[in-house]
Amino acid sequence: MSDVKNVKCARCGALDAAPPDFIPYTGPLGEAILAQVCQQCWEEWKKMSVMVVNENRLTPFLPEHRQILEQQMKEFLGLKI
Ligand SMILES: [Zn+2]
Repeated sequence: MSDVKNVKCARCGALDAAPPDFIPYTGPLGEAILAQVCQQCWEEWKKMSVMVVNENRLTPFLPEHRQILEQQMKEFLGLKI
């Protein structure tokens, strides 16, 4: 993709970093991630999310569990949304 806009990462502060190449979110949340998070921090969140799911015994297909996971993600990444 040549039209990818680089991001100023909300988590690590990297300037002009490449955004994640794939995220499982659409809508305003997906747009916020692609505009505010670098690829490296996204990879760190993916590892962290596995721990969050295990520690809290989350079942990601339950909407209320998904909400918990999304809240943790916003805090971890410093998303402004
Ligand atoms: Zn970053």
